[in-house]
Amino acid sequence: MAPTISRRQFLRLSAGTIGVVAAEMAGLGLSTAYARTPGQRIKQGKEVPSVCPYCAVGCGQIVTVADGKIIDIQGNYDSPINVGTLCPKGAATYQLAVNPHRWTKAKYRAPFSDHWEDIDLEEAMDKIAERFKKTRDENFIEKATIGDAEKTVNQVLAIASLGGATIDDEWNYIHQKLMRAAGLVSIENQARI
Ligand code: SF4
Repeated sequence: MAPTISRRQFLRLSAGTIGVVAAEMAGLGLSTAYARTPGQRIKQGKEVPSVCPYCAVGCGQIVTVADGKIIDIQGNYDSPINVGTLCPKGAATYQLAVNPHRWTKAKYRAPFSDHWEDIDLEEAMDKIAERFKKTRDENFIEKATIGDAEKTVNQVLAIASLGGATIDDEWNYIHQKLMRAAGLVSIENQARI
């Protein structure tokens, strides 16, 4: 029968182990804070300080580059904001930047068609721009009656904007400016910025 250990015994044992490790570290001249930092990086290259693109927390990142390519992205231990940590989204930045599964075409389904087809991004952008402008012009509301008064509202209720989790800060900023300038009021984004 396997030996059993109580919860109290486990905690005592753990505390004793930590004490031994701490004493050994002190003998080696290492502080506890230093010991918390990770060891040598596995991937070696030029380390470039950067900032996570995703949200307003602004966690520091280290982008490791070799032969002109990104080979790793990790939290920056020198950043006072995140001290080397990254949330799951920030920790996956490398997979966003370097990923053979990224789509390089847009999927298009023509009106009344029963299937999708791949089209170039330029063609997709032209279609979106044309339809956005047409819908906006056809549905622009300049004035509305609110209560007893007629007010200038300059709004479009026929278009909504839905952002995604991997849209970065700069893109979100410009996108907000464009949508609000066009008169949209239904604007949502996962990043909440
Ligand atoms: S998305 Fe996560 S890692 Fe990136 S800045 Fe925000 S909290 Fe930090």
